[in-house]
Amino acid sequence: MTISFVSDLHLDAAHPEIGAQFLDFLQNDARDADAVYILGDLFEVWVGDDDPDPHKAAVADALRALVNDGVPVAFLHGNRDFLVGAAFAERSGVTLMDDPTVLTLSGRRVLVSHGDALCTDDVEYQAFRAMVRDEAWQQQFLAMPLDARIAMAAQAREASKTSMAGKSAEIMDVNRNAVDRLMRDHGVDLLIHGHTHRPAIHEFDLDGRPAQRIVLGDWYTQGSVLSWTDDGYELEVRPRS
Ligand code: MN
Repeated sequence: MTISFVSDLHLDAAHPEIGAQFLDFLQNDARDADAVYILGDLFEVWVGDDDPDPHKAAVADALRALVNDGVPVAFLHGNRDFLVGAAFAERSGVTLMDDPTVLTLSGRRVLVSHGDALCTDDVEYQAFRAMVRDEAWQQQFLAMPLDARIAMAAQAREASKTSMAGKSAEIMDVNRNAVDRLMRDHGVDLLIHGHTHRPAIHEFDLDGRPAQRIVLGDWYTQGSVLSWTDDGYELEVRPRS
């Protein structure tokens, strides 16, 4: 049994090399997996399932081909693609999961999340997150014309870049207490997330017991895949060929 986890691909027509590597992953490695989990920020930006962007359509179709081949794919929202909706799920065959979700892997309870909600030191971001995750805000945004949504998303991206430039690395990392609380609340000793682009396997003590936090890497310059088998797990770098 092999379960593959990826996150933070940030797929975007402006960076076709990332899309090419991901499609290669879906067409080859992922075919041998028993399931694939995408833990958010599959796309750099998502302004609605009605966006006719051919790059996004190609990704949806490649996911559909994998699912049709018998490999289930599940996705949870990142901070870039939180508007991925039912129409995309229908087209791609991907199952939308809540963030966070508890999985049972090899008999072990494992919590998966994008990770942005754990960055509680970034008060400004958490306020933005609360706004855009609000149902009424989303309905209002999605009711806007497509070109207005694209323009607004680009503006938000620029504002975010400016704001991030003034923040320390610590502020933009997950908060240790938020991690402990989330894991405790869900009764798990293993958390898998992405978002911070700091791939690592952290070993720590949670209430007197050993715990692990696996952070998936981004795909900006190389692939990052966590492969889980009954014998253990491995966080792998996949060089760009
Ligand atoms: Mn993210």
